[in-house]
Amino acid sequence: MKLTHRFQIPYDKDIYTKLKTKQMEVGRVWSDIVQYGNDYYRIFKLWIPKSDLEKMTKQVYELHCHTVQAIVAKYNVNRMATLRRRKSGDIRAKYSWKGKRFYTIPYKRAGMVVSKQKIILKHYRYEMDVKDLLLTCNKKVKKLNDYIEIPNLAQEDISNISYGEIVYKNGYYWFHYVVEVSEKKINMVFKPAGCDLGEIHSLAIGTEDKALIISGRAIRAIKQYRAKALAELSKKMSRCKKGTKKWEVYSQACQRIKTKSRHQIDYLIHKSTKEAIDFLIKEKVSDLVIGDPTGIEKGTKRDPRKRKNRTRRQQLSIWSYGELKEKLEYKCKLNGIKNHFVSESYTSQDCPFCGGRHFSNGRRFICSVQKTEIHREVNGAQNICRKKFRLAVRPVDVLFKQPVWYRRKVSPNKKA
Ligand SMILES: [Zn+2]
Repeated sequence: MKLTHRFQIPYDKDIYTKLKTKQMEVGRVWSDIVQYGNDYYRIFKLWIPKSDLEKMTKQVYELHCHTVQAIVAKYNVNRMATLRRRKSGDIRAKYSWKGKRFYTIPYKRAGMVVSKQKIILKHYRYEMDVKDLLLTCNKKVKKLNDYIEIPNLAQEDISNISYGEIVYKNGYYWFHYVVEVSEKKINMVFKPAGCDLGEIHSLAIGTEDKALIISGRAIRAIKQYRAKALAELSKKMSRCKKGTKKWEVYSQACQRIKTKSRHQIDYLIHKSTKEAIDFLIKEKVSDLVIGDPTGIEKGTKRDPRKRKNRTRRQQLSIWSYGELKEKLEYKCKLNGIKNHFVSESYTSQDCPFCGGRHFSNGRRFICSVQKTEIHREVNGAQNICRKKFRLAVRPVDVLFKQPVWYRRKVSPNKKA
């Protein structure tokens, strides 16, 4: 299984300025490609072929030729993905039409020399007179070599990586690289579990006799705070002129809130899924059935008379189902747990005791026929599992976990 790992490139004025100019150069390549694509479409009503783009971008930019090719490939992939999304009915998907000032720098195998201490990122420069520029179409131009040296801080042995990227994030440059990670062998003993992803309880996992419930209140609280703070700021921003000093201050505050809450939520999602995986490993689960709530949102669409639906839709939109699912999926894969997906419909109402359907009241699910009760989320998780595999009805041990975000401790050296 392939995973993307990264390390931060320590600040060095020389390296950082060099990387910045290269990023701008990549931005220039991207902008030009998009421009060519747009013009071509306007004239011929066709997509510009990839080979034409490669020809047009050859020997022009101060980058390694494979880097330029990688950018062209990226544009192509981008276009195909948008086409696929549009064909499946997503009309909001837009083709890339706008230029970029900065862009991440891709490097292929030929563009890097990796040793244990450092990574050398290769670049070319083409020496050309203005006079030549008019004559050269496919003529050979004098090529000059250039390179940027960054330290190799990767945890793994990356001497034979085939692809790397320089990404700017949070004031630092990062080196992203793809590594092959071996998956664990799949458990031979069959044991199923169901997983219910929700808002108040971000994760509920139920096996036959044990259950884990992870609270999602911390994530929700951060999201609610963010929405409120951003709304207040945008209200203030609407009162002053765009581009003024005050507006700039508010806009920076917006950015700060966004990045900070993003970090907190990412951390919490990681922690929640980690807890879940630890539980699954401890219980020796071989198959995990995950409930898919697509369809819930569909039912709540377009009914302005129903006030309740509007609040429900709002709740759904701030609930990070996709991220949780994605992280859970790949962590399962790494630990040799098989994933299955089923629809979530009626799983919260089906009664395991009498086989009928009841509406749950609060957090408890009570069967009025058999006079028994079970935690609502546990019942949901088990019912999701029951859609795929058999699961006996037994008393369940429930374990509660509540991940919280801690303020990062400032080390005493830094404080002084
Ligand atoms: Zn019942």
